[in-house]
Amino acid sequence: MREGSLDAPTRHPLDWTDGAFWDEASLDEELERVFDICHGCRRCVSLCEAFPTLFDLVDASPTLEIDGVDPSEYRAVVDQCYLCDLCFQTKCPYVPPHEWDVDFPHLMLRAKAVRFRRKKPPLRRRVLGATTAVGRLASIPVVAGTVNALNRSPSMRRMLEKTLGVHRDARLPEYHSDTLKKRMNRRRRREMEAEPLPPTRGRVALFATCYCSVNAPDIAEDLVRVLGHNGIPVRLVDRETCCGMPRYEQGDLEAVDRARRTNIPQLVERIDRGYDILAAIPSCVLMFKQELPLMYPQDADVQKVKAHIFDPFEYLALRHRAGGLDTDFKHSLGRVAWHAACHQRVQNIGGKTREILELVPDTTVTPVERCSGHDGTYGVRVESYAASKKIARGTLRRLERIEFDRFASDCPMAAAHLAEDLELPHPETNPITLLRIAYGI
Ligand code: SF4
Ligand code: SF4
Repeated sequence: MREGSLDAPTRHPLDWTDGAFWDEASLDEELERVFDICHGCRRCVSLCEAFPTLFDLVDASPTLEIDGVDPSEYRAVVDQCYLCDLCFQTKCPYVPPHEWDVDFPHLMLRAKAVRFRRKKPPLRRRVLGATTAVGRLASIPVVAGTVNALNRSPSMRRMLEKTLGVHRDARLPEYHSDTLKKRMNRRRRREMEAEPLPPTRGRVALFATCYCSVNAPDIAEDLVRVLGHNGIPVRLVDRETCCGMPRYEQGDLEAVDRARRTNIPQLVERIDRGYDILAAIPSCVLMFKQELPLMYPQDADVQKVKAHIFDPFEYLALRHRAGGLDTDFKHSLGRVAWHAACHQRVQNIGGKTREILELVPDTTVTPVERCSGHDGTYGVRVESYAASKKIARGTLRRLERIEFDRFASDCPMAAAHLAEDLELPHPETNPITLLRIAYGI
């Protein structure tokens, strides 16, 4: 047997339609097997709180081994995993094809799903995952202003902490009543011929994402501008719903399935009409590129979306390689500290954001490849806020050691979470916005 493996990780489909996936005894057996391997390895101790929690349990057990830990305590480990995939993609030598077959994140997902089916989490947890519904409500004119004002009020925040479990100090996103859809409807449609440069087809259907629709429409608008500047026509996907990632992180696989049934037919319809799909939030791209294809390995439509969805900078890099990117930049960006978001890193596309930004003259990009600790709702929930700040400390220390003029992350939530504790020369921003600034458009 080989000790560790240097082979690229391969992943098994998530067998969630199989009865054995839901069997609690077999789940506990698998948890014990994998936890025992992790206890003997401990490479991931600094990644998140799941591993220190596990090792503390083992170290406090009477046997000092995993057999001394009561399975009822496994839940504490599962609760600390926010499914960033970093342990699987970047650290673990025992992932398949290694015969030990360790897939820690998928095992945590299975444990979350089994628990969700047995006992739904409290309503407050489920509300936090209902991003589309909350966004629709909070972006109604007048309501948006009121929600934003209430989010800034200390007494209201204390109430929000009690009722919804949102930590009073967590930075919450603003809501915009001038949504992305309204902005796109106001834009004058330029008739442009798509220029296919394989593998890109030069025509984009933008999956707006819950976050860009109502919380950060500027980012998506900047992406539309950058694409338009490069001769790429863009339209929104008509009636999308949340990609499903917030529900996936809770283990609510039935809700993920409902989201698939709404989104996939629309995306496929666009693909069949010659569009590529883009989304400006890495987690949403990851959902369609990796998680759904593993949940539905036999579904040709899901696999078709996987083949045609791109991270925005992956797309621009492909266009550049084929000679189709305008590199006539008007403004330099100076020294950029670029936080590489976990859900973008695990897409295995390399540092495409850095590659494109460094085409801008007099621009250097220093990557910071550490977790922000935000990860979905983990960074705002009262029970995990302190842990998320602890995880962010290593990233902040790294940022404090480098000199930079601008700080950017492809994940706007991670950027905001880190920026809370940084003294920045400019507000944190998105690399797409930096590119728009560099073009002077
Ligand atoms: S997937 Fe991410 S959060 Fe979960 S255990 Fe691995 S590194 Fe930690
Ligand atoms: S996930 Fe892999 S690398 Fe990380 S502690 Fe467990 S066995 Fe070691």
